[in-house]
Amino acid sequence: MFDVLIIGGGVSGVSCALVLGSAKDKKFMSDKKIGIFSHQKSSSLQDALFNNAYGIPAGKLGSEILNESIEHLNQSYPHITQIHNEKVVRIEGEAPNFTVVTNKNSYQTKAIVVGIGSANTFAIEGLMQYVIPHQKALPEKERIQLKNTDHLVTEGIYVIGTLAGWRSQLAIAAGSGAAVATDLLTLWNNGTQTHAHDSIR
Ligand SMILES: Cc1cc2nc3c(=O)[nH]c(=O)nc-3n(C[C@H](O)[C@H](O)[C@H](O)COP(=O)(O)OP(=O)(O)OC[C@H]3O[C@@H](n4cnc5c(N)ncnc54)[C@H](O)[C@@H]3O)c2cc1C
Repeated sequence: MFDVLIIGGGVSGVSCALVLGSAKDKKFMSDKKIGIFSHQKSSSLQDALFNNAYGIPAGKLGSEILNESIEHLNQSYPHITQIHNEKVVRIEGEAPNFTVVTNKNSYQTKAIVVGIGSANTFAIEGLMQYVIPHQKALPEKERIQLKNTDHLVTEGIYVIGTLAGWRSQLAIAAGSGAAVATDLLTLWNNGTQTHAHDSIR
């Protein structure tokens, strides 16, 4: 049983996983099992070129970030389970007992974070009732989002990145994933506000 499974190995998903991973030394994290479906084939990053993203050197290719971010997660936080090459097709159950079904396996989890982008090819059974037109994209692009309040779709299900209704910028998607990570950390800290920082001091 995972405590949370993150669906999507793009900007928002990996950002969420990095913040959760970095909180590993907090007492309330000792028993937490975290996983990420690191599927990347349909990431917006595949064709992107970055000159305007905070902290990223100008001229960086999105395809490089895809590989490097997964490697960063693997090197820094190997306790986070990376599930490669599996596409999520269905979600069953309700909090705190979800089953996430992929094209190859199924997994049990208490919570789910979905960050799979805003393409209208979205087809995860069990989440279709939350799909609405994207509120911050041009209508002719036919983007979609999941209906949510501050990233929460329904108990135990969070949405991040462009699928949460944010405009398509790397920094916004990364921030959205990080924001939900801190929501989960706060929840696991019995509702007491928290975040995850490292320091040279
Ligand atoms: C051509 C292009 C150029 C861009 N240039 C810039 C720029 O200059 N500056 C800037 O700030 N932003 C730019 N962007 C936008 C930026 O890349 C996106 O805003 C950002 O990637 C969105 O992050 P996300 O996490 O929402 O989605 P993504 O990064 O697209 O990640 C979604 C992930 O979910 C995975 N996935 C999809 N379906 C499933 C499934 N069923 N199961 C499991 N995983 C699944 C995908 O494979 C992918 O890895 C550009 C985008 C494009 C397309």
